[in-house]
Amino acid sequence: MSTPIIIGSERSEAGLPRAWELLSQGASALDAVEAALRDCEDNVNDHYVGTAGLPNARGEIELDASLMVGSSRAFAAVGAVKNYPHPISIARRVLEVLPQHCLLVGEGAELFAQEQGFETADLMTEETWEMFREQLKVSRDSVEGENTLSAPGDDIYRVTALELVRRFRPHDGPWGTINVIALDEHGEMVSGVSTSGYPWKYPGRIGDSAIVGAGNYCDLRFGAAACTGRGELAMRVTGARMVVDGLARGLEPDDACRTMLREAGDLPDPFRAELRTLCLTPDGRHGGASGQPGSTYNLITPDTDGVQAIARVQL
Ligand code: ASP
Repeated sequence: MSTPIIIGSERSEAGLPRAWELLSQGASALDAVEAALRDCEDNVNDHYVGTAGLPNARGEIELDASLMVGSSRAFAAVGAVKNYPHPISIARRVLEVLPQHCLLVGEGAELFAQEQGFETADLMTEETWEMFREQLKVSRDSVEGENTLSAPGDDIYRVTALELVRRFRPHDGPWGTINVIALDEHGEMVSGVSTSGYPWKYPGRIGDSAIVGAGNYCDLRFGAAACTGRGELAMRVTGARMVVDGLARGLEPDDACRTMLREAGDLPDPFRAELRTLCLTPDGRHGGASGQPGSTYNLITPDTDGVQAIARVQL
């Protein structure tokens, strides 16, 4: 019997309490991680995941999510999925009924979700449309000195897509992909991530969250890690895998996280933005690192009083 523990990135507090309830009643880490991320995907005040996520440059929300099981290193992901509010559950279904594959994207992922009976939904809210329109206005203004655009669509996309990608800046406050890692009482460890990806991204762009070893990696021998932020950097260094490799070499969790961020930070990248990571070991040690001050991750154990925020070490 292991002592259950669950950690999550900023804003995972929308889902961790329910996941903890499950874990403490003996549920599997897989059930707990899925439950946590579903609640985060349903949080319409969070614009970086699920319903009310921020859209791509065409005004369409495209979601990425993945799950990895520590004992088998089974991995399942979906990428660029439209109109399905719970990509983490579609990823789980891939894990369970399509084990010959690891990753489904776009139309194929949506076909699979439809076959499996998942409900579709309009994921844009009034607020996310307003945010999208505002960003288009700013962008077109700077291209043509006008302030006349009112609706998103292909024409606007052609004018603005590249500039939007360049102009994107994270909002104030915590933002980005949500990571959750749980260890259950049976000793199994599962890591999951869910995201609407980079706002205003090129349609079809898939980030680190759907790529094994980049945004998500779990190996029960050493631990699990996941990433938030600049997905292309996480992909280029295979960030989550690199953190787990650090754990395997005997680094403490904070150092394993910091070592990966340092390597990512050395790469040339004109679109550089914050990259954060966190990890958990099978014996319950955990850590997190960030390039910016004030960044935290969440923890629940039998000893914490609900969700406890832990400071990430800074690069
Ligand atoms: N990692 C996400 C991606 O690259 C973005 C984020 O976390 O903000 O899609």
